[in-house]
Amino acid sequence: MSEAKADFTGQVALIATMHGKQAAFAPPLTGLGFTIHTLEGFDTDRFGTFSGEVERKGDMLDAARAKARAAFVHSGETVDWVIASEGAFGPSRVVPMLAETKELALAWRPVDDLEIVATRASFETNFAHLDLTPDADLDRFLERIGFPEHALIMRDGDRVTAKAIMDHRTLASRITTATASVRLETDMRAHLNPTRMGEVSKLADSLAVRLSTPCPGCTQPGFGRTGVEAGLPCEACGTATEWVAQEVWSCRACGYCESRPRADRRTHADPGNCPICNP
Ligand SMILES: [Zn+2]
Ligand SMILES: [Zn+2]
Repeated sequence: MSEAKADFTGQVALIATMHGKQAAFAPPLTGLGFTIHTLEGFDTDRFGTFSGEVERKGDMLDAARAKARAAFVHSGETVDWVIASEGAFGPSRVVPMLAETKELALAWRPVDDLEIVATRASFETNFAHLDLTPDADLDRFLERIGFPEHALIMRDGDRVTAKAIMDHRTLASRITTATASVRLETDMRAHLNPTRMGEVSKLADSLAVRLSTPCPGCTQPGFGRTGVEAGLPCEACGTATEWVAQEVWSCRACGYCESRPRADRRTHADPGNCPICNP
């Protein structure tokens, strides 16, 4: 199996972002040899905003594709790759009490339409809101979301009345004139939310790892985990459990795929999760 790292020296990667995300993507991509280009005056907000003024069409990958293609046309440059990313936030499906963050990064090679995708999901987010009712605990909310290092937006019904609130004075004056239906929300744009930028950095690292991993079948970049297979055997009786037995790695260029051991090298499941030992 070929594990030699791909080298992108001399290739140009255009980063299609306007919320400072090149701070997250440039270091790992530069590490692979890329020359980084960014766009001036490229408005990614027209592809959808977190605050909902522009509704996002399709799923996260569709949105990233639209951004990447528009950036490519907008730049008018000859670039080898275009990098775009998307985030989504909301209550976790597994633990609805917790907010979850999902991030997706796309590396698109226009010359042959090859797409390399990395995703990340975690609970590392301050995504939250507070309705400014008379009994609202503003101080506790501000402490919890990390204000003012993390910015706020203000909404009155469907209308966003202020964004990027990053200091107590502005917040106080906004609140003084607010009506009873006002809600404060975390501003999730990466350059105004250090917690999110941290997640985007981890996402950028995994995109770089994937880019630098060539397919054992065709040597194109982007080989990596695309799925999992359940059925890890029980430690006591050997029955297949719901635990992940192996990872499935595949190549988007040629379709080659192979099974690989779990990243943690675990070969057996805890009997507590076995349908026979612990029905
Ligand atoms: Zn068992
Ligand atoms: Zn391949």
